Amino acid sequence: MTLDIQSLVQRHHGDGSRLVQILRDVMEVAGHVSPPVITELARALSLPRARVEGVVGFYSFFEAEPRGRYRVFFSDNITDEMAGSHELRQRMLDAFRIELGEVSRDDLVSIRSTSCTGLCDQGPALLVNDRAIARLTPARLGAISSLIRGGTPMHQWPENLFSIASHVHREDRLLSTALAPGEGLDAAIARGRSATIAEITESGLRGRGGAGFSTGTKWAACANAAGPERYVVCNADEGEPGTFKDRELLMHHAEKVLEGMTVAAFAVGASVGLLYLRAEYPFLIAPLLERLAERRRVGLLGKAVRGVAGFDFDIELHVGAGAYICGEESALIESLEGKRGIPRNRPPYPVTHGYKQKPTVVNNVETLAAAALVTRHGADFLRSVGTPKSTGTKVHSVSGDVARPGIYEYPFGVTIHELLEAAGAKDTQAVMVGGPSGVLLSMRELSRRICFEDVPSAGAFMVFDGTRDMLGVIDNFARFFAHESCGFCTPCRVGTTLNAQMIKRITSGTGTRRDVKDLARVSQIMKDASHCGLGATAGNPIAMAIAKFRPSFDKRLRSLDVLPTFDLEESLAPAREATARDDVDAHFDEEHR
Ligand code: SF4
Repeated sequence: MTLDIQSLVQRHHGDGSRLVQILRDVMEVAGHVSPPVITELARALSLPRARVEGVVGFYSFFEAEPRGRYRVFFSDNITDEMAGSHELRQRMLDAFRIELGEVSRDDLVSIRSTSCTGLCDQGPALLVNDRAIARLTPARLGAISSLIRGGTPMHQWPENLFSIASHVHREDRLLSTALAPGEGLDAAIARGRSATIAEITESGLRGRGGAGFSTGTKWAACANAAGPERYVVCNADEGEPGTFKDRELLMHHAEKVLEGMTVAAFAVGASVGLLYLRAEYPFLIAPLLERLAERRRVGLLGKAVRGVAGFDFDIELHVGAGAYICGEESALIESLEGKRGIPRNRPPYPVTHGYKQKPTVVNNVETLAAAALVTRHGADFLRSVGTPKSTGTKVHSVSGDVARPGIYEYPFGVTIHELLEAAGAKDTQAVMVGGPSGVLLSMRELSRRICFEDVPSAGAFMVFDGTRDMLGVIDNFARFFAHESCGFCTPCRVGTTLNAQMIKRITSGTGTRRDVKDLARVSQIMKDASHCGLGATAGNPIAMAIAKFRPSFDKRLRSLDVLPTFDLEESLAPAREATARDDVDAHFDEEHR
């Protein structure tokens, strides 16, 4: 297929807000977005060239230079690492005789890491071009390498390589309650707009993305905002390492999610819905498009939905391009508008100034599925289970050192102990609830409960047994935040990099107590001064690990004294090498003199 920019832009109606989708199409055809293509796109879309170039540079899955016919990304999530991803990655690098990040000389393949592919229950995993492959073993990796070496087109690769398993070990009311297409919407129409919002508020439904804001309050604020144009956005960009429950919800419960979007649109008066799907879930694109087409066919999307005059509503699918920060709702809106995913200043909030500065409801996948069921069955559907301030259930993505990784739905208030027991965890040392920006728990905290009153969670539950080096775990998280910081504000941009460097120093045995003090200090500065939640929470796992797993740090320190972090002995090494000196006066440390 050749790249025809003019017809590509026409296919997207010349709409610059579709820039991310247009660039995805360019990547699919050309494998990279070259400088002349950037210029041509800018002209065709009447956008400043710098804007297009900035977007290309922002997203991990866009390339400005050729990166080989096969672009391989190994998931660098901690649970993939624990399952052997680094060894497998090295095996593939050796097979193609390249270093991490390089392109092979014949332009066949490049191999890199990406933060998390959302396949933590079936890792190690990787992406090749736009396809995800889970359950990597040396044999499967060998098969992939052979297909690449042979230049086999991706559509001719065996389909079983791409199969994604579904590991659901416990269902509660969200997953086990069936919902026929239109059932939630019919109930909403019968109730009326404001009564639907009142029912959602009465149910106590809170956002399942982690922040826990009242869904009814959000819908009411959007419905009451000024102006005739409104939007509903489904945030399906779950990128928190260790979280994969939206994958399951969108694979097997998409109808509930789409129904929730349609109910929200009816309640707030929106005519356009946007489902923002993370790039790492390409296998969900075709099934979601089919479901949307089916809903159009039966009159659940389109003009006068369900015969309600004036209720015109349709849903567009947008796919991300590899940027964790786009899970933050204002960054996600920026991305939907075809820009870099930089979080906005707030207030104003999206409910009044969201997509295209119009009132917008942004809800998480799980929240929308729950909203559809509440609308169908009433507020008691949630109120009858959970805790006073956390009604209903939560879907957990359990991974790491457990016998049965996968999906577990429990009422809010489930204890850490209950979840560990259910998943078959043994000799557990620590649990990270809510992903790297969440809460790190030690085994003294088994009775703590997952709910907004105690330990809130966006869904990740990563388990580490007694064999794991907690410093190695924290090292992985620190690298993750340094990589995913969008770079907009200094405390986060510099702080995440400094933290990653200090952790590296400690793991390599050259850190001192001064590094540990500085880690706590930098983490606090990030918490106080960062522009958005990523920077504010990036120091959480470090601060909690220092407080709860201090021996993991101390045993690696070069000195328990507070020493300057600048290592003069090490910094003199290049000068010694250049001058071919190794005498006592060329050394700083006493031990070398
Ligand atoms: Fe970007 Fe980090 Fe600042 Fe958030 S805190 S805006 S991710 S640099």
